[in-house]
Amino acid sequence: MRYFLVAFVLAPIALISLVASHTFFRCKSEKKNHFLLVLVSVLFILIGHLLELLSNSTGEAFTAIRVLYFGSGFVSPFILFFIADYCDVKLPSLLKAFCLFISIVYIVGAWTTDRTGLLYATYEYDSVSSHLLLYEPGTLSYAFRLLPIVYLIGSTFILIRALKNRRGRYRKTIVILLITALAPYVVETVMYVLPLALGITANIYFTPHVLAVMAFLLYIGVIRYDMFDAAPIAAMMAMDTISEAFILLDRDLSCLSTNKPARVIFPWLDDLERGKSVYLSPGWPKELSVEAITGGGSSVDFMLPWDSTHCYRASINRADDVRRRRSRDLWSVLIQDITESENFVKRLEEAAYTDTLTGLYNRRHFAEIATPFIERAQRLALPYYVIIADLDFFKCVNDEHGHLAGDAVLRNTARLMKNAVRSYDILARWGGEEFILLITDPDEETALALAERIRQSLESSECDYMGKKLRITLSLGVAKNSDGCDMTELVRRADDALYISKQTGRNRVTMWSK
Ligand code: GH3
Ligand code: MG
Ligand code: MG
Repeated sequence: MRYFLVAFVLAPIALISLVASHTFFRCKSEKKNHFLLVLVSVLFILIGHLLELLSNSTGEAFTAIRVLYFGSGFVSPFILFFIADYCDVKLPSLLKAFCLFISIVYIVGAWTTDRTGLLYATYEYDSVSSHLLLYEPGTLSYAFRLLPIVYLIGSTFILIRALKNRRGRYRKTIVILLITALAPYVVETVMYVLPLALGITANIYFTPHVLAVMAFLLYIGVIRYDMFDAAPIAAMMAMDTISEAFILLDRDLSCLSTNKPARVIFPWLDDLERGKSVYLSPGWPKELSVEAITGGGSSVDFMLPWDSTHCYRASINRADDVRRRRSRDLWSVLIQDITESENFVKRLEEAAYTDTLTGLYNRRHFAEIATPFIERAQRLALPYYVIIADLDFFKCVNDEHGHLAGDAVLRNTARLMKNAVRSYDILARWGGEEFILLITDPDEETALALAERIRQSLESSECDYMGKKLRITLSLGVAKNSDGCDMTELVRRADDALYISKQTGRNRVTMWSK
């Protein structure tokens, strides 16, 4: 019987040692520290009990008990600390210190009970059957029996709260912890109550066997269900200091960890249940699709549906967890706010193709877009026209009212011309006070009518400059593409027609003819 019991204690010792060494060497998470303390406390209980079983005298058994109490004094608070840490609940340092103080009082009480009788009123050694120290509980014993129940309630409360917002694997680990926390108390209560109810006295100490079950459950939790996250906390704290948003997704595309900037972009990530895919949230951008993520190694630009003022670039990388034998897919999503750089590029582009004073296309950009415009007109067999417009006696405006007044007149002219043309016409500032227009029209009359409309709108308008009403007119020359002439020739012809408008009294439209 005695050797059977010894073997029965050796099994959980081996199992706990295995789990402890696996955790110590293979798990990177800082959450493992409290967990290791739990395992060490359990080992103290088991070794103490083993020594008790192997003891041959009351003195030896009492020494064994001292080792055992060292573990049982600390195991409950360490379980609570570990569970709180695992579930990201921060316990106040003062509370932790108080718990440890109580544990020390308990251990000192146990160690000195042969003199004080606080924990054991009397005790005797059963050298025949169990080799256990049999005792009558002392005054403090009852109080300390209540203590684990208090820790249990605290741990259970934290675990049940965590259970609510975790899914899948993460929920399973919480269930395992819940069972692990409850099992010793349930079994012990049953084992104390049952003999009392049946009216028999049993001197079998069940705690080690319950601990064996607990060790097995922890083994499953740590090794099978990967209880400790892949991302060490220290690394995550460092991630909070970078400006990019960082999101680590696991193989189910549920969120494993995030940094602060990520939670600023996606505030709902904070409340997202562990194990629930980010795709189930309506706030996840559709550009970051499952294919975009699992394709790996790509970069995706996106905007948030509720904020069109910012654009983001996500760099997606597959992060293989090399510490594990079984391959475990993780995806890191690094998000950068590219609004500033995108705007800068846009501004550069705009500056490259627009005229800053009038906001019209500049001469260079006109040349660039004229080619595809003409190709399209030729494909559709549509005649196209070049209109050149030049302000009349513009120099006088500058001379009489100053250069800034001249600028205001140029801006006003550009605005009126823009209003007169159609969206598919190409209008640009050709030079100083000259404008160019490239249009397609099936007949000459329509093209001339457009030029005439522009002339009239200038003639009938006034430009308000510092309270002065400035009036100006416009001369225009129109040339139609014919006899296969190129763009340079067409512009020259429009210029010739404009010259005629100037020569024949200005403020008029002239159609080029041979
Ligand atoms: P015409 O009817 O024969 O075209 O006479 P004009 O005075 O309009 O023509 P001219 O070529 O003699 O003068 C053009 C003036 O336009 C000269 C130049 O100083 C002025 N000019 C060119 N670019 C700008 C500009 O960006 N702003 C201002 N305020 N004036 C400009
Ligand atoms: Mg001119
Ligand atoms: Mg002029």
